Amino acid sequence: MSDPSCLFCRIAAHDIPADIVHEDQRLVAFHDIRPQAPTHVLIIPRDHIATLNDLEPAHREVVGEMHLLARELARAEGLEEAGWRLVMNCGAAAGQTVFHIHLHLLGGRTLGWPPG
Ligand code: AMP
Ligand code: ZN
Repeated sequence: MSDPSCLFCRIAAHDIPADIVHEDQRLVAFHDIRPQAPTHVLIIPRDHIATLNDLEPAHREVVGEMHLLARELARAEGLEEAGWRLVMNCGAAAGQTVFHIHLHLLGGRTLGWPPG
């Protein structure tokens, strides 16, 4: 459920401080410590899931809720009209550095494509 050596589990448990913008029974969202855009929020499940490679059918609901929360936060940040992006890196080659799944919600500037 939770891994005491995992940074994002510790943030979810309030063991490590973060600028939390939303929390509920299943999810926590907080500002990225090194923002890559004017809006850069990370959305995580409270349960420890290391990477997308570890997803199982039982995670269907929480993964859906992560996206619905992203949609809510994007609206609250006023990003709907201009556009916004969700990113989830899977594995080292994709740039994953924290091995607890997280959606990056990015917006507030024009975002290039393709990503690096
Ligand atoms: P990724 O590289 O996709 O695994 O994303 C990990 C993200 O976590 C990076 O954008 C980091 O800047 C961010 N990050 C690392 N440590 C913290 C922290 N203590 N609080 C908030 N964000 C963090
Ligand atoms: Zn974790």
